[in-house]
Amino acid sequence: MSYCPFCKKKIAMSKAFCSRSCKENYFQLISIQVPDSYVKRIYTSLTEKDRATDIESFANRFKWRLDLVKNKIEEKAIALEIITDPSKN
Ligand SMILES: [Zn+2]
Repeated sequence: MSYCPFCKKKIAMSKAFCSRSCKENYFQLISIQVPDSYVKRIYTSLTEKDRATDIESFANRFKWRLDLVKNKIEEKAIALEIITDPSKN
């Protein structure tokens, strides 16, 4: 058995992804680049509401999926210790 690199579901060894959409999401996620300085700026100088709006326009500018961008930004904010990992609370 191996695992889908995007959703971590178990898949047959002969497959690289469990579905076409996981494959697309995975490659889109890799292509999303969020600079540290951007993450720092939106967390330190914007309110939660403004931050959501800013992230939306950031995602639109590069035509990236909003949910993937949000995940990436949150991951980065945790890595930079700007926020604490919500799953650890
Ligand atoms: Zn999958």
